[in-house]
Amino acid sequence: MQNVYESTRNKGNKISSKQAILEGISSDGGLYVWPELSSVQLDLETICHQSYKENAVYILKQLLSDFTEEELKMCVENAYGNTFASQAITPVRKVGDVYVLELFHGPTSAFKDVALTLLPQLMSVALQTTKEKALILTATSGDTGKAALSGFQDVKDTGIVVFYPDQKVSQIQYRQMVTQRGNNVKVFGVKGNFDDAQSKVKELFLDEELKAVAKKHAVRLTSANSINIGRLVPQIVYYFEAYKQLVNQGVIELGKKVSYSVPTGNFGDVLAGYYGYLMGLPVEKFYVASNENHVLTDFLRTGVYDRNRPFIQTISPSMDILISSNLERLLYYMSDCDAAFVKGCMDDLKNTGRYEIPKALLAKIQALFDCGYVSDTETKEIIGQTYADKQVILDPHSAIGYDIADKASQRPMVSLATASPYKFSQDVLDAIGKTSQDELDAMHQLEKVCQNPIPKGLAELETLPVLHKDVIAIDAMKENVAHTIEEFFND
Ligand SMILES: *Cc1c(COP(=O)(O)O)cnc(C)c1O
Repeated sequence: MQNVYESTRNKGNKISSKQAILEGISSDGGLYVWPELSSVQLDLETICHQSYKENAVYILKQLLSDFTEEELKMCVENAYGNTFASQAITPVRKVGDVYVLELFHGPTSAFKDVALTLLPQLMSVALQTTKEKALILTATSGDTGKAALSGFQDVKDTGIVVFYPDQKVSQIQYRQMVTQRGNNVKVFGVKGNFDDAQSKVKELFLDEELKAVAKKHAVRLTSANSINIGRLVPQIVYYFEAYKQLVNQGVIELGKKVSYSVPTGNFGDVLAGYYGYLMGLPVEKFYVASNENHVLTDFLRTGVYDRNRPFIQTISPSMDILISSNLERLLYYMSDCDAAFVKGCMDDLKNTGRYEIPKALLAKIQALFDCGYVSDTETKEIIGQTYADKQVILDPHSAIGYDIADKASQRPMVSLATASPYKFSQDVLDAIGKTSQDELDAMHQLEKVCQNPIPKGLAELETLPVLHKDVIAIDAMKENVAHTIEEFFND
């Protein structure tokens, strides 16, 4: 084991990459980081000659040093072998003078698939080393739940339980989850809202009785959220992939800098781009694109992070976030790995909802990161306009990244597209001036104007049988998890 990962908040606590993937978050509340990240400089020419899967192994090998190359090859093959609808996995498409990087060709039509197809494979290998099994507990407001279910379906030594707020997810999100197949998956509606479910899941991780049940079966209770390094690392790959495609299409010469615009919520996606930059990706600027919950725009402009503000529900719900957890890792690297400084900021955030960074540090961050935010009204306008002018349909999240990219001065510019427009059919249809009865109706209407057909995973939703019908009280979550442990791991 090579214990190279440590907590952003404490230099003492060192563990291997396999352990970091199994643990997710450090017991001191910090996130796992590898301080020597920039000692790795990837060879761009090699990257330009390799396939997506080869590049994934090449990049993962640097960051997950206690996995063997054989293990990584197997994980990558299982994750990307036949699950993505595009040969390129993440193809780049020119829209105006912006290069749109399409991250939504995975099984659930959202960018989270890129990481959530690979994380379960990495976890499964790590579990063989520790001779354990793992039960993933996830509360979801809609999208992550499905991507996680799909990624963990029938993966060896793992099981997954997803809780969603009953009646509070969209029609498509509901059907995506309750039709999920697999012998190691369970889905429950809960009577409450997302925060209730999320708080309960956090409690369950600390519940002594439940831990005892798990321990009896050598089961580890864990999460699959976006602070896990096993979710972060796979996302670095497509930043290099976009670069490779621009070189190979003759748009840029090898070594030229490009900029990236990233629709941002928890700061995981854009952070992966920064990791790529530290590892040798030639980047001019990262544009952090936000919606009306623009806590990051304010931070990048003023150096003050302040979550004390109303939470706004927008038409880009996956970016409705007031605490961008992965920003902690940026602070760590930008402050030259100053764990005490990071801990101070995070303590302030916890106690007062706010922290402020020194001006010199802000200037250093601003040299690489630019930002902007887009309202719902503007988001709809840009969707309508892109369709009218260029016959391209963007989902609300991708439209925010595209709008910021379009208005920025830097070129060449890659803009990340994080969801298929079909996942948000009703709002998209509305934006292009058409009305619909419900989400499924909207999906069919959208197909008449979209260049691509409805993705298979969404098209089959209407006919798949409902397999998970249970709706339970918040207080019944614990006993259901206990039953699930007995049921899945009773051997
Ligand atoms: C999760 C998500 C985002 C935000 O990504 P972060 O890594 O949380 O910044 C953007 N768009 C879509 C569609 C998402 O699902």
